[in-house]
Amino acid sequence: MRNFRQALLWWYSLHARDLPWRRTRDPYQIWVSEVMLQQTRVATVVDRYRTFIASFPTLVALSLAEEDEVLTQWSGLGYYKRARELRHAAQVVMREHAGSLPQTFEELRRLPGIGQYSAAAIASIAFGEPVAVVDGNVERVITRVLGATEGAQLSTRARMRDAAQKLLDKDQPGTFNQAMMELGATVCHPRWPRCDKCPVQEICRTQGEHPRPPRAKILSRQTAYGLVQRKVGQSKTVEVLVQRRSADASQMPGMWELPEVDISIVENMEPVLRLRHAITNTAHYVTVYAMSEPPEENLEPHPAQQWANAEKLLGIPLTGLARKVLMRMDILPRPKSIRTGTKIPDALDPFVQNLNAKGNTRKEEHGKEEHER
Ligand code: SF4
Repeated sequence: MRNFRQALLWWYSLHARDLPWRRTRDPYQIWVSEVMLQQTRVATVVDRYRTFIASFPTLVALSLAEEDEVLTQWSGLGYYKRARELRHAAQVVMREHAGSLPQTFEELRRLPGIGQYSAAAIASIAFGEPVAVVDGNVERVITRVLGATEGAQLSTRARMRDAAQKLLDKDQPGTFNQAMMELGATVCHPRWPRCDKCPVQEICRTQGEHPRPPRAKILSRQTAYGLVQRKVGQSKTVEVLVQRRSADASQMPGMWELPEVDISIVENMEPVLRLRHAITNTAHYVTVYAMSEPPEENLEPHPAQQWANAEKLLGIPLTGLARKVLMRMDILPRPKSIRTGTKIPDALDPFVQNLNAKGNTRKEEHGKEEHER
């Protein structure tokens, strides 16, 4: 075990990606990053993390923010329940902990939206508590290092946590946990692990992929949206019609999106945009149709609809899909994209180069929401 720890920590000291949340000791910022990283690509989080922290630099600022403001800054990350719970937890911390984030795993677990994984990550990274993090990456590394047969016996979460806890370096738990996740994310990939680059290859009993149960079937769904635009004022500012999802919608309640249209109505029309958009285990094949004239009843938008120009669109919580469509149509500015190779400001380059060079996913075995696969 000591060899394993030494090899892993040595490798991490040389190869850790330079990520913004690794440059801070602020527990609040570490907490935000860990919540964002749940089921979301590192490359996506880097960009959103910066803008979120710029908007809500402290726990106090987050606790005082309106829910819509928080959702707006979360747009594109998916799983919006996380954003609501993050804000709620900040309010609980202000009310019950005098504004200081609790420092132990057990106390953190009692906050809204903080589960086993997040509590372990925050407690170890921000406060040095010797508690092991177990996410998909860590599970995979442990399963492979111990050998597939033993790994199969670790199939329950409790046993996996027990194994991770035994491996943990109690002197540097935060660094060790990050190193385990980093190894899983950048070397010990679910498919085609780069064993020749692995610091623990000599110890690993599998040295390759391990048998896994078949993945859940990906469902597919066709969806059509209307892009209804108008130009207003002497400046001919473009406005887009958006509508709000109901407050009790099972996914993304209260978020704003383009009006969905019945696919049978537009089947003979040529779309202005086609794209694929994954939400949990469903691949949405989306087509967008330009509608120059809004339907009669939309001339005076009802309360769940509004006209919004680019500036206004940036200030409301859009669904990730709506945001993506509006960026592709050049109605909203495109972010500093990593995937498409758009020019990135110099200040961000080191992060992006690292991500591109070393892989950009943190939790590959979980479903992704709101991102192209
Ligand atoms: S040797 Fe290969 S399978 Fe084993 S931990 Fe390293 S990358 Fe993973």
